[in-house]
Amino acid sequence: FSTFLETRNLSVSYYMERTKIPAVKDVSFSMEKGEILGIIGESGSGKSTLAKAILRAIKPPGKIEPSSKIFFKGRELLSMKETDFKKEILWKSISYVPQASQNSLNNTMRVIDHFYDTAYSHGLSKEKVTEKALELLKMVKLDPERVARAYPFQLSGGMKQRVLIALSLLLDPDLVIMDEAVSSLDVATQRYILEIIKDINKNIGTSIIFITHDISISAYLSTDILVLYAGELMEEGKAEAVIKTPLHPYTADLISSVPSIGGSMQNIRPIKEGQPSLVGCPFNARCNKLMDYCKLNHPEVYDVNGRKVRCFLYGNNKDK
Ligand code: ATP
Ligand code: MG
Repeated sequence: FSTFLETRNLSVSYYMERTKIPAVKDVSFSMEKGEILGIIGESGSGKSTLAKAILRAIKPPGKIEPSSKIFFKGRELLSMKETDFKKEILWKSISYVPQASQNSLNNTMRVIDHFYDTAYSHGLSKEKVTEKALELLKMVKLDPERVARAYPFQLSGGMKQRVLIALSLLLDPDLVIMDEAVSSLDVATQRYILEIIKDINKNIGTSIIFITHDISISAYLSTDILVLYAGELMEEGKAEAVIKTPLHPYTADLISSVPSIGGSMQNIRPIKEGQPSLVGCPFNARCNKLMDYCKLNHPEVYDVNGRKVRCFLYGNNKDK
């Protein structure tokens, strides 16, 4: 038995000329097969960087710090040879729907050619790819024959997004990482695509990491939720429990800032504004449960009945 996906002390920094931007800090989490893990956090909290680290797609000036480990089905991904990773893991086991991905389709290529391109390096026959592509386009509720022949510019944003989801499934991956896959779409189209993603997870068992800044989307879709703030894991647990009884003040604030899950309109409170702090708890400038201790000390991640929380409210050393 081995864990499906586990990161251990994953840290990624961007090394700029004069400064280092730590974008992901010491993130340790695991997910089981079949889960839909929602990764949520504000802009700049490190969501895309975390996704790219798992895909080994961090480019300079970004660098994965040497202490980091990523285990996937018994293998450590960061120590694999690049060629092995590309041949055995990428697309085949872990695939990706990148952020702002509607622009990642090539307008001069028909939709079906994108499938040929992706399959090319994995040695599938053209007939096999055509058959599979049509099946997948149907699965994401597109007219397969028509869309396969179309050029991306002939499709709406929601259709393009569904093409990209179909494409990510071409080689039957165990895990698909979707980065803001519905963010640029209207609410009705979002709902429609979220249903499709749920069906994919249920019917073919694909595990999904779904990145979003919108906690209501994550509440609707995910089985598990991981909250990032300033590159750090603040809370992680079963989605239902996290939404019903958030432990971290930041998670609680996120929930009460949206109408659909925070209750009635009267109960909506915007989160206090502010920047992540460099000293003490990163959330200390915005926290409504602030204790003196949080100003100078940095909390670890505590285990509270299976929930992970980085907050001194749950730590045994807050009285020091
Ligand atoms: P968003 O919701 O806006 O997509 P995010 O949570 O995905 O944000 P990241 O894109 O991972 O956040 O960025 C995390 C931090 O790393 C930010 O401070 C960002 O400025 C920095 N960063 C990201 N990419 C680069 C880069 N190529 N070079 C320098 N800094 C970067
Ligand atoms: Mg991002």
